[in-house]
Amino acid sequence: MFSYWEKDLFMPNYDFIVVGSGFAGLWLAYFLKKKKPGAQIAILERGTLPQGASTKNAGFSCFGSPSELLANVDKIGWQTTLDLTENRFQGIQIIKTFFGNTIDYNPCGASELFFDEEKFEAAHSKMEELNQNIAENVKSYYHFYLDKNIIQNSGFAGFKYAISNNQEASIHPGKLFYSLYKTLISMDVKIFFGTKVTGYNTEGEKVIVKTENLGDFTTSHLSLNTNAFTGDLLPEYKIKPGRGQVLITKPIEGLTFDRTFHFDQGFYYFKNVGNRVLLGGGRNKDLQGESTLDFAVTENIINHLKDILKDNILPGKTFEIEDTWSGIMAFNESKTPISQILKPNLSANVCMNGMGVALAPTLSKKLAEELTSNG
Ligand SMILES: Cc1cc2nc3c(=O)[nH]c(=O)nc-3n(C[C@H](O)[C@H](O)[C@H](O)COP(=O)(O)OP(=O)(O)OC[C@H]3O[C@@H](n4cnc5c(N)ncnc54)[C@H](O)[C@@H]3O)c2cc1C
Repeated sequence: MFSYWEKDLFMPNYDFIVVGSGFAGLWLAYFLKKKKPGAQIAILERGTLPQGASTKNAGFSCFGSPSELLANVDKIGWQTTLDLTENRFQGIQIIKTFFGNTIDYNPCGASELFFDEEKFEAAHSKMEELNQNIAENVKSYYHFYLDKNIIQNSGFAGFKYAISNNQEASIHPGKLFYSLYKTLISMDVKIFFGTKVTGYNTEGEKVIVKTENLGDFTTSHLSLNTNAFTGDLLPEYKIKPGRGQVLITKPIEGLTFDRTFHFDQGFYYFKNVGNRVLLGGGRNKDLQGESTLDFAVTENIINHLKDILKDNILPGKTFEIEDTWSGIMAFNESKTPISQILKPNLSANVCMNGMGVALAPTLSKKLAEELTSNG
């Protein structure tokens, strides 16, 4: 039951209600408020913190490794792949411009590593075509090159080849969340944590948004930014969850690398975090089992990651694991996000298909522009 004061302050008729406080929802609320400073905006988040991928990820501000981009080209064609790359690139510029000083932004560059001659050749033989297409179609400069020294200089074993770029970077995703959160509070966006949306009705003059614990909210426009958890709210879209498991070691003396690394079409990723190694991925070991909304870590994936640490990333070094966790991503067959107005009073900004750190600011900015284009 709300008091008069609580109702007066927290339960007005909102202009926009955003469901989900991951990067998509936070950036959307930010750009909506920028466009319409007088608008009443609320974010409803079921977790006490974001409870999806945004504060669970590896903190790579990445656009896609060559083998990952080329696999996308095979599936969705050059134009869609390049459009996504451009959107990711622009997203990173937004992050850097707004919060470059507060999120441990490190323009360290990235390398894709290869164990296997055949897979390397498949990527290397198309590297120049990829560079040329990026140069011609992606507004920002982004260039891959064969890197002959990085494997030896980093002390890795087993990896034979590397393709690098100097444009990707590393961030602290928790600090990015917190920077956005503080900014939104200062802009008078109301954020309700621990508030799960259970349904909504868009038929009337106002949208009625039903919550598990705070009753009904009303709004002129409801935007779902619920990524992998969109199924119950928009069942007609076929969005598949993909769990990502991550481990981080305790600090290790003598780590010589400071880049972000990917291998196996982006299924594995690692980087140096304060002389610890963060390593995540391995979903491809059990694609069916990892297609789940359950935030668990499993012995088979974590042991597999530990083996990679021991054999390939830290050969001959002793290490201890400090922490493990998981987050949930969202995928669909078309590998493209759904960021669109579905009805005048309902929109979706979901299904980031991985790499949403970079994608979310651009998609949210465009959606906010569309939603406010009529004054
Ligand atoms: C392990 C891992 C590593 C990753 N590494 C990277 C990386 O290095 N670089 C990169 O670019 N991307 C990475 N990603 C992907 C990236 O984190 C995501 O694409 C991005 O964070 C998605 O943001 P989002 O806001 O769309 O979704 P989310 O962050 O999942 O946010 C959705 C929010 O909606 C809330 N919600 C859902 N349903 C409801 C409801 N009914 N009511 C109220 N709230 C609800 C959830 O609790 C959640 O907080 C990684 C992901 C994982 C899991």
